[in-house]
Amino acid sequence: MATVLSPKQSKVGLVSLGCPKALVDSERILTQLRADGYALSATYADADVVLVNTCGFLDSAREESLDAISEAIAENGKVIVTGCLGVEAAALQKRFPKLLAVTGPQQYEQVVRAVHSAAPQVPHPFVDLVPDIGIKLTPNHYSYIKISEGCNHRCSFCIIPSLRGDLQSRPANAVLHEAEKLVAAGTKELLVISQDTSAYGVDIKHATSPWRGYDVRSHMTDLCAALGSLGVWVRLHYVYPYPHVDAVMPLMADGKILPYLDIPFQHASPSVLKAMKRPANELKVLERIAGWRRLVPDITIRSTFIVGFPGETDEDFDYLLDWLEEAQLDRVGCFKFEPVKGAAANALENQVDEAVKQDRLDCFMAKQAAISAAKLNRKIGQTLEVIIDEVDNEGGATGRSKADAPEIDGAVQLRDSSGLKAGDIVKVLVEDADEHDLYGVVCSASTIG
Ligand code: SF4
Repeated sequence: MATVLSPKQSKVGLVSLGCPKALVDSERILTQLRADGYALSATYADADVVLVNTCGFLDSAREESLDAISEAIAENGKVIVTGCLGVEAAALQKRFPKLLAVTGPQQYEQVVRAVHSAAPQVPHPFVDLVPDIGIKLTPNHYSYIKISEGCNHRCSFCIIPSLRGDLQSRPANAVLHEAEKLVAAGTKELLVISQDTSAYGVDIKHATSPWRGYDVRSHMTDLCAALGSLGVWVRLHYVYPYPHVDAVMPLMADGKILPYLDIPFQHASPSVLKAMKRPANELKVLERIAGWRRLVPDITIRSTFIVGFPGETDEDFDYLLDWLEEAQLDRVGCFKFEPVKGAAANALENQVDEAVKQDRLDCFMAKQAAISAAKLNRKIGQTLEVIIDEVDNEGGATGRSKADAPEIDGAVQLRDSSGLKAGDIVKVLVEDADEHDLYGVVCSASTIG
């Protein structure tokens, strides 16, 4: 749970579960509560009320959320639930009759109202202040920035559209004003998130909005160009390979945004992609990747995959392995298909046996480990820019290169942290590598940011 302030204020404990998008929701709720004068409690015992921001994407995430609610009720007793699981309010109230309130995803006002009613706040002129950037749950030097909510696709394994609704894009200037504030407060890396970053602005017909004296279109390319003018690292997540993604390559080649694309491919076999109802699956992805690499030779492509999707045959899986060999992706995560309550894929025929799923997962990850190790090995001897995440007590430090997003990718381990602090951007000579991480030493007098 998050930090404590003045003992005179009502205090809110927060358990934040789920993906970076849920984390941004938590930040927004906490920002409002701090603006209303609430303090944050790091312990159940000290909190006047506990807020559990839940995730319901996978059954395992649901279980984790239900456990967290149970624990909060046992430890504190005054509990409000919000987030994805909040769409099942009646079932939750039945299972946990002591819950004070249940609100759904993005229902910020309802959550805040529920907190006010559970733990009324006495106004206080000195604590009713909130930093201009709001409350952050990430370190100061990097920040997630959410450009839209919801999704217009209907992938058969996913319930996000039913939880969060159709695409709702923020105006470009709202995103840019938030980004400016974050940069002014010390953010060195902006991580652009959404459910479908490439679709940004489709719902608002790519409307323009004024920023710094000109009109910015709510379109991925224009937003990236504007974010790229802020002088910090800009990293794109959840991009689908629509044709217009090619237009951000020059921004990467010019160093305006990081040469990094997080594209959740999920599979490669056409029949599995069709059954998954994946967006942009008909596009010739390997050719696109080759084209991107011609324009941006140091581009990092990260992706996630699902094995054992209903109907996936041995041939489909072999196709996927061959595709992976050819694609030579830099960073890859893989999951076994798991039925999610309410997902259309659950009703598909030919569900794959659990043991087969596990074999395919092991086989897939072994192949990717070899690809990743070879790719990282080729970085030995290179000098890379690295942002420092943490300086440890034993004289070392951990950072990330432009190829590494926080939490999900590898790291750059430094054996000497002299003079370093979190958020520094330094040049590092890579001395060694394994299948996940790089190991190196800071080049002398190299702080560049
Ligand atoms: S693109 Fe597909 S997987 Fe992603 S949020 Fe939309 S429906 Fe879900």
